[in-house]
Amino acid sequence: MAFVFELNFRAPHNYIKCFIEALAKEEGVNVSVARSHNTITLVGDEKDEKLSVFLQKLGSVLPASFHMTGSSHRIISEAVPILKNIIDRPLPHAVGLCTYCMKDIFDPASRRYYYPFTMCNCCGPQYPFFEEYPFDREHTLMRFFTPCKSCEKELASSPFRRDFPLISCHVCGVPVCMRDGAKERYANDAESFKTLFEVAAKALDDKKSVKIKTMAGWRLFFDASKTKREMDKVMLLTDAAQAECYCALIKPEVYALLSIERPLIHATVADESLRKIYGETTSLKYPDEGFTILLARELIEIGHGHIAYIPCDEDTKADFTIDFDLPIDPQRELRLSINKSVYLIVEGERGIFPQKRKKRSDRIVAAYGMAAVPTQEGMLFDRMEKIGKAEASQLWVLEGEDPILHHSNTRYFSQDIASVMSVLYEHEKMHESAIGCYFGKEPTFIFHNGKKPMVAVPAMAFSPKDLGARLSSLREGSDRLVENFTKKFPRIAEKLFEREEVLDIFDAAACIMELEDESLERVEKEALKFHGKGGLQIDTKLKNNRFDPYAFIASIMSYRLAGVESPLLAYSIFESFGDYVVEIITELKSRSKADNIVLCGRTFGNPSLFSRVQKKLGVKSFLMNESLPIDRENALFGALAL
Ligand SMILES: [Zn+2]
Ligand SMILES: [Zn+2]
Repeated sequence: MAFVFELNFRAPHNYIKCFIEALAKEEGVNVSVARSHNTITLVGDEKDEKLSVFLQKLGSVLPASFHMTGSSHRIISEAVPILKNIIDRPLPHAVGLCTYCMKDIFDPASRRYYYPFTMCNCCGPQYPFFEEYPFDREHTLMRFFTPCKSCEKELASSPFRRDFPLISCHVCGVPVCMRDGAKERYANDAESFKTLFEVAAKALDDKKSVKIKTMAGWRLFFDASKTKREMDKVMLLTDAAQAECYCALIKPEVYALLSIERPLIHATVADESLRKIYGETTSLKYPDEGFTILLARELIEIGHGHIAYIPCDEDTKADFTIDFDLPIDPQRELRLSINKSVYLIVEGERGIFPQKRKKRSDRIVAAYGMAAVPTQEGMLFDRMEKIGKAEASQLWVLEGEDPILHHSNTRYFSQDIASVMSVLYEHEKMHESAIGCYFGKEPTFIFHNGKKPMVAVPAMAFSPKDLGARLSSLREGSDRLVENFTKKFPRIAEKLFEREEVLDIFDAAACIMELEDESLERVEKEALKFHGKGGLQIDTKLKNNRFDPYAFIASIMSYRLAGVESPLLAYSIFESFGDYVVEIITELKSRSKADNIVLCGRTFGNPSLFSRVQKKLGVKSFLMNESLPIDRENALFGALAL
């Protein structure tokens, strides 16, 4: 009889499977673990007493992951099968620390007590140290350091750090330097590292700023009350137990926040006193790498449940600086949007790249400094400079980008079509028909007949040129709207009509609402402040049933004239867009009889828009990216399906 345990898991990397295997080895239990696209399967002998001890332990120490969506187990009346496992050299990833490594840095008896570069095969920011393939020590920044005797021993025998390319410890690892003014202090053992983080936490307690070169890039930490409320800062939650006191969070948000991928999420600030310093909404983060984790621990010790930080660079001024002598190359943060139990990756690189896919294409795809290239085993997706040489008979480049690579057979692809195709690629439905909506800044509708995708309803181009005249001639009475608006809001009118400062419709909307900075992100934040039930109907259409940016802007102007508050107006903008998207999709679907509906583009990460669309279309009626970002880099995958 065999016990079978299945975990639904769709991340591109194998850190969870790797953790399960390492723990099984450590516990001395004989199990077989395999990974398929969406599942991790573990089988063991049902009669083995060690198995139940192991499973219990696994339940308590397995890191959380937002890619994990459920599990099941069963007993089969067969002998324990040995699962087939394709042994691949693992790719360097960047996630938070596993429970094994967390124990290491906080156990005073460990060789890595307060050592920020602690990590293992299953965890840690590996990618920032990675230089080129293959991922072994010789091709990482750790080549400058020789493992000590104890690390050598671990490389040969530790289930978690067997052959781990980035192994190091206090004895053989990276020294760190802290500067304040002319004073310098070095940390190179447990005691000095502990002191360094104590000093940093104390400095923050004294309302000083501390700049740290973390493995996620330079970060400037400071007391949030010392800065302007509106400033875009991240609330670093040092104490997980306080999460729901500080911010209004639903369970899936707390789960995502603490998951090993450690994404950034956006949250409404619940605590009245924190609203005064962080604003009504904030970016929220749980400590994600060694330096931030150790600093957070020292901050809890002196009673700080949170601290603010902003990403910065080497030249940013600060009272204290913590630095080390390696030119690390961090990846872009992962930002999630969570709607009930749906996790959408709005943007980011961490934990997503690099990755491999089995299906090989004879083409190289390039976009955003990243590339998809054919290898012997399939396709590799990574930053261009890490890949080195690659060969294929075609080169596909994102429209509007300069081809850094040159090829006699170069083709171009558009973001909207490639994004839609990436969803079909991810769900292996490239050969089925679909209606797709890509919503970056304005919605575009795509029809795919199973062979070739094409634009069905294009986004209408918006130009700020002669905006006043265009709005005046929109329809009868529009000229009066422009006149009245100019009289009541001369400063906004000047920006909109004379200086023509806005670049797109969301800029224009933000400008009309007088939000501090004019962008889609700012309008999104404003919409989050709305806590009422329904929104107002904003006109998005004019002629030919097509989205009309000028009708949209005129409608926002008239609501502003009528004295509508900006959170309600911002919320209504997304809700109205939701209605428009649903209407067009429903019409195109019934006309074309397409099999699938696809949604993509970063604007679907907006909760007001997403929940409106979900409610009207039905929860399981459409496909979206699951393990890929919903915009930008997903095009690398979609272009393979063109
Ligand atoms: Zn680990
Ligand atoms: Zn060592």
